[in-house]
Amino acid sequence: MFVYADNAATTAMSKAAIDAMTPAMHQLYGNPSSLHQKGREANYALMDARETVARCLNAQPREIYFTGCGTESDNWAITEGARLGAEQGKRHIISDPIEHHAVLHTLAKLEKQGFEVTYLPVHEDGVVRLEDLAAAIRPDTCLVTIMFSNNEIGTVQPIREIGALCRERGVLFHTDAVQAVGHLPIDVAADNIDMLSLSGHKFHAPKGVGALYCKKSVPIRNFIEGGAQERGRRGGTEAIPAILAMAAAMKDSCEHMEENMARVSAMRDKLIDGLSKIPRSRCNGSPDHRAPGLVSFCFEGIEGESLLLRLDLAGICASSGSACTSGSLDPSHVLLALGMPHEIAHGSLRLSLSEYNTMEEVDYILQQVPEVVRTLRQMSPVWSRMLETMEDPYQ
Ligand SMILES: *Cc1c(COP(=O)(O)O)cnc(C)c1O
Repeated sequence: MFVYADNAATTAMSKAAIDAMTPAMHQLYGNPSSLHQKGREANYALMDARETVARCLNAQPREIYFTGCGTESDNWAITEGARLGAEQGKRHIISDPIEHHAVLHTLAKLEKQGFEVTYLPVHEDGVVRLEDLAAAIRPDTCLVTIMFSNNEIGTVQPIREIGALCRERGVLFHTDAVQAVGHLPIDVAADNIDMLSLSGHKFHAPKGVGALYCKKSVPIRNFIEGGAQERGRRGGTEAIPAILAMAAAMKDSCEHMEENMARVSAMRDKLIDGLSKIPRSRCNGSPDHRAPGLVSFCFEGIEGESLLLRLDLAGICASSGSACTSGSLDPSHVLLALGMPHEIAHGSLRLSLSEYNTMEEVDYILQQVPEVVRTLRQMSPVWSRMLETMEDPYQ
């Protein structure tokens, strides 16, 4: 059996996305900035796509800027949020330690430029507390950037309340919603969001296209230098086929949100139940505030890497944490921020589902993972050392 359970790293393209992209690649090759009919044709399609994306977020079309990826959107929003603050003499930013590196590395760069960043604790469940945020906001705070839902442990933050607090205190609020768009209902107006980053390939659109929502009252400037595209704020000829595919995928996801959420979270819950039966295992993240498709576990006494290799041989595509840190031997910064010891954080497994997965696949995972964990433990020196001080749970 083959099971793709790494949807937080990237997703397969949907039929809706491919059906929108294919004719665009054949016919819509005009440059939307050109004044002739081929240009106009592309420009109309671009306007349609912008309207679709805006509608899914309850934003206005002119508040949507297409970008090259989620990383670019994050870099842009945070850099501009900081610049706008600095213009008013405000150089304090608030975030948290379990953000994606697109956010954390941008913040690190700003810290080198003299900004001060407060990282709110996320506690053992990975959730930011409103009272911690309220206490951290200062007169010189210019920006709060907190992700909508986490890509490693799936915790969903209280975004609407965070947004309300920021608005009340006059602080700009950006959220990295790359893991949330297409999977959770989002309403930028009701959720009090000023800036929001999204990326197509996390909801069945192609890789290499994203967007930034920026509320029209926020006077952001361009992040990269170039032409007059995107109302002068994001130069570079628009990737029409990819943008149309992203709009189609977003519309498709938003129209089927309720049923997809129900189906995917039922599979997630079954996985969590089943994996919890493995001795010395723990489910990471909050049980209550969790994205529909995300399951993250730690198994004591084994290495996440060897677990992944064995699962791969069994046809299961999973991950140990974020795709961006796999390949390095450091344990995930997210698991460490939850207060997990290094040796346990090493034995982590992330399974991320989408509506393309099935219950049969979940059953197959539940048959394979406990066996692989047991086999690896039999070979693990760490596990045998643990057996000196505890009863063997497999006896
Ligand atoms: C994938 C991801 C990103 C980066 O998006 P790209 O389009 O791959 O650049 C940023 N933030 C989160 C939470 C992500 O999961």
